[in-house]
Amino acid sequence: MDLSLEEIIGLDDLKKLMHFFHEAAGLSVGVLDTKHNWLVSIGWQRICTDFHRVNPESRKNCLMTEDRICEYLDSKQYLTYPCPNGLIEVSIPILLGDVPLGYFFLGQFLHHPPDHDYFRRQAIACGFDIDAYLQTLDKVPVVSARRINHLMKFFVRFFDLLTRIGSENLQRRHAENEIVKAKEQLETRVEERTRELNRALLEVGDLAAQLNESLQQVERLAVTDTLTETYNRRKFDETIVKEHDHARHGKTPFSLIMLDIDHFKKVNDSFGHSVGDSVLKHLCQLLRGLIRQGDLLIRWGGEEFLILLPTTLIKEAGPFAERIRVVVEQESFPTAGKVTVSLGVAQLREGDSTDTLLKRVDSALYKAKQGGRNRVVLCSEI
Ligand code: GH3
Ligand code: MG
Ligand code: MG
Repeated sequence: MDLSLEEIIGLDDLKKLMHFFHEAAGLSVGVLDTKHNWLVSIGWQRICTDFHRVNPESRKNCLMTEDRICEYLDSKQYLTYPCPNGLIEVSIPILLGDVPLGYFFLGQFLHHPPDHDYFRRQAIACGFDIDAYLQTLDKVPVVSARRINHLMKFFVRFFDLLTRIGSENLQRRHAENEIVKAKEQLETRVEERTRELNRALLEVGDLAAQLNESLQQVERLAVTDTLTETYNRRKFDETIVKEHDHARHGKTPFSLIMLDIDHFKKVNDSFGHSVGDSVLKHLCQLLRGLIRQGDLLIRWGGEEFLILLPTTLIKEAGPFAERIRVVVEQESFPTAGKVTVSLGVAQLREGDSTDTLLKRVDSALYKAKQGGRNRVVLCSEI
């Protein structure tokens, strides 16, 4: 990671600190970055700003010193040197580990009172106003090498501490940013996975609903006669067990009607098998319209049907069978025209099994056929 001094220390704070130092010590300070830009320059002597840095020749000396010195500064030791324009400067590199982030300068002072002759010659050489130049020279602070040594010991430790704390802060901020980024990435991933999971759950839900529907359809088909869409024997077998139970537990017994189309063979013979089929379907529609909710219409086989009437005594089942007979008799079937049915009716008796009940209702139907068809015979009449 390439770090700059500004990032690590914070320029505003550094400027303030340098300003306070200048106020307290009366010495000029400056901080150069590694690209040789002055980040801080405080309390510069007028001899430098008004003369040395103005004249092209003496200015060249200033700049050359900056460049050269920076090359030499590579340890934590400070370096004291005379600037080519006659003043003294001290500098240290500002290091992070071994990497220089910039350079600190303490300068524009003298260790001893100035040699006026030397500076007068310099004024003449550079074409300065001699009096004005010497006046600014008298403002240049005279500081002992010992005091400078103390100050620089302070600055070496000071910048060491500053860069270490700054860099630790920066690393901490960097780590915090990484944590925030990782957290955001994690949250995004969690959101994505949650969305995927919800989608999958919806799909599973849909699938379960489809499966359930298919299952119900299979169950429906298993107990349904395909031609007439009435129930089949399987449904009868399931239901009759429950009805026996109800009857055993003291509920009103159920009744059974057995219905058979009269001379149905003739329908087939006269109009063909498919007309026979449509007569069967039509008859079932009629029957569905007549039975109550809870009654069960079963295709028993061929052109024979059972109607199971729960909690119904024969005295109600008989008139109901008669109603069916009349409705069918009065109906005009497409193509086939008139069709009649014979019906036998029986009520569950004490001690009846399904077989004995079926036998009785079958014989009632047989009687109806024998009696001339298109009629109802109650089991109680036999
Ligand atoms: P009966 O009055 O004595 O009941 O005379 P029937 O002709 O109705 O009785 P039979 O048992 O002699 O004939 C029943 C006919 O029903 C014979 C059979 O081909 C026909 N049949 C049975 N199942 C179907 C079916 O699914 N479709 C058609 N079209 N005919 C059927
Ligand atoms: Mg018949
Ligand atoms: Mg028959």
